[in-house]
Amino acid sequence: MQLQHLLGIEPLHPQQIIEILDLADQYANRNRSSSRTSDMLAGCTQINMFFENSTRTQASFEIAGKRLGADVMNMAMQASSIKKGETLIDTALTLNAMHPDLLVVRHPHSGAVDLLAQKVNCAVLNAGDGRHEHPTQALLDALTIRRSKGRLHRLNIAICGDITHSRVARSNLILLGKMENRIRLVGPATLMPAGIGEFGAEVFHNMEEGLKDVDVVMMLRLQRERMDGGFIPSEREYYHRYGLDAAKLSHAKPDAIVMHPGPMNRGVEIDGDIADDLSRSVIQEQVEMGVAVRMAAMDILMRNRRQNRQEAQA
Ligand code: ASP
Repeated sequence: MQLQHLLGIEPLHPQQIIEILDLADQYANRNRSSSRTSDMLAGCTQINMFFENSTRTQASFEIAGKRLGADVMNMAMQASSIKKGETLIDTALTLNAMHPDLLVVRHPHSGAVDLLAQKVNCAVLNAGDGRHEHPTQALLDALTIRRSKGRLHRLNIAICGDITHSRVARSNLILLGKMENRIRLVGPATLMPAGIGEFGAEVFHNMEEGLKDVDVVMMLRLQRERMDGGFIPSEREYYHRYGLDAAKLSHAKPDAIVMHPGPMNRGVEIDGDIADDLSRSVIQEQVEMGVAVRMAAMDILMRNRRQNRQEAQA
């Protein structure tokens, strides 16, 4: 697979998705054993540049890089020269001059990571750009679904909540659609983007109807940082109509799994007891799969980079 960067799910072929998931599956099993480190990325310099807050994603990229033996550097973007007016591209070019092998970038603007990838000569991995894409989240969600349902096709999957502002919804919609699942988008009309029907998903504004007989319930946080007005009447009202509780979940299949990319707002989009119910919730497994998927993605990108360099030298 000749992937140079991982900027989104959109350009991936279903076979490439399966290859990443297969390798991630192996890493997930290794991560549970005592021999979970390797020297796959020995000699590689990985720089994490997070221009937006992150807990899970940044921590798991750091752990993934370290488990593979990379030299990992976390740029403290709050303390960087961006604060002195330097542009994203100038910062990227400065770091590029230090010859990193991999930049892991999260940025509040959709498209910023693609732009950056065009300016540097190392591999770039999108860790979330605005409301555009979050490819490793969709891949870790896919791996979690495949491990708990035994397959990743012909499932009924409901993605619920703030669809408009969510890059997680977008990347998942693309990935799960490519794998031929039936996708439902459930949420208030104010949080449903115009033209969403083109993606081939069914749209519901009522949780009971939207969750009927689904295999997977994926809940999303209200992305307030990307809202520029009032999209919901109140959190209380939102929880009442769209928050996942036992009554609403009872409309899904009895073995339906509950997912959430985190961070969770308990009592807003999800009831705390549902989130903690390990017979339904795979939220902690999603976090675990995040490390494995990121190890697989970095492994593939670095292998391709080595191969391209060898070919260029030959
Ligand atoms: N952590 C995910 C993201 O970065 C989801 C969220 O923030 O709600 O998009």
